[in-house]
Amino acid sequence: MNDDSLSRRGALTRLGGLAAVALGGGALGAHELLEPDDAIAAGNGPADVASGLVTCVLAPEQTEGPYYVDDAAVRRNVTDGKPGVALTLRLTVVNVANCKPIKGAAVEIWHCDAGGVYSGVQGDTAMFLRGVQRTDAKGVALFRTIYPGWYPGRTVHIHTMVHLGGNVVHTGQLYFPEAVTDAVYERSPYSQRPNRDPRNAGDSIYRNGGRRSTLRLARRGAAYAGSITMGVQRS
Ligand code: FE
Repeated sequence: MNDDSLSRRGALTRLGGLAAVALGGGALGAHELLEPDDAIAAGNGPADVASGLVTCVLAPEQTEGPYYVDDAAVRRNVTDGKPGVALTLRLTVVNVANCKPIKGAAVEIWHCDAGGVYSGVQGDTAMFLRGVQRTDAKGVALFRTIYPGWYPGRTVHIHTMVHLGGNVVHTGQLYFPEAVTDAVYERSPYSQRPNRDPRNAGDSIYRNGGRRSTLRLARRGAAYAGSITMGVQRS
């Protein structure tokens, strides 16, 4: 399916169709059920907010954790050759006061590799799976990465920090639907570390608003496209 050719009307129509199929009890997998979010991935951030398709809410503040490194590179592709299931991220930053996109915000992400390891810690100078992108006029920052692994004590997550005019205006974490993670983790190299623990519901940080910062995921062949709109307060 060529998603690039989808008009907004087409995407919404498809959403309705899928909803009908889901209600009819069809044998759709979790990935297909998440497909309606293609409407968001297709890129109408502010319009989606205006239409109510995206609710403009304050992204929950969550700890940056122990693995923040202060000098991540400005780059879209942060993989540095790390193996894993390809994941593109479309992160939209809007002003929570009016739901309008914020242009020129620096969006930073960092996460662990498929084996649960972060770069740039304990004397390591590698910077894999860390990067910064500036939002465009639509408030959108794009990244190319891999689906994160997990490490003991935390559910699957990506850290994010939004900088505006030299100030940090948001520190948060992005989460994944459990069914998608389960499917991804059946594949190598994730399958080498089974029995991830905790899952979302058992994670003490996720419990503090994590559901509202869960990525919308759409399958793209062997890869996934994730998107979310983050409402932030200008400081
Ligand atoms: Fe972490």
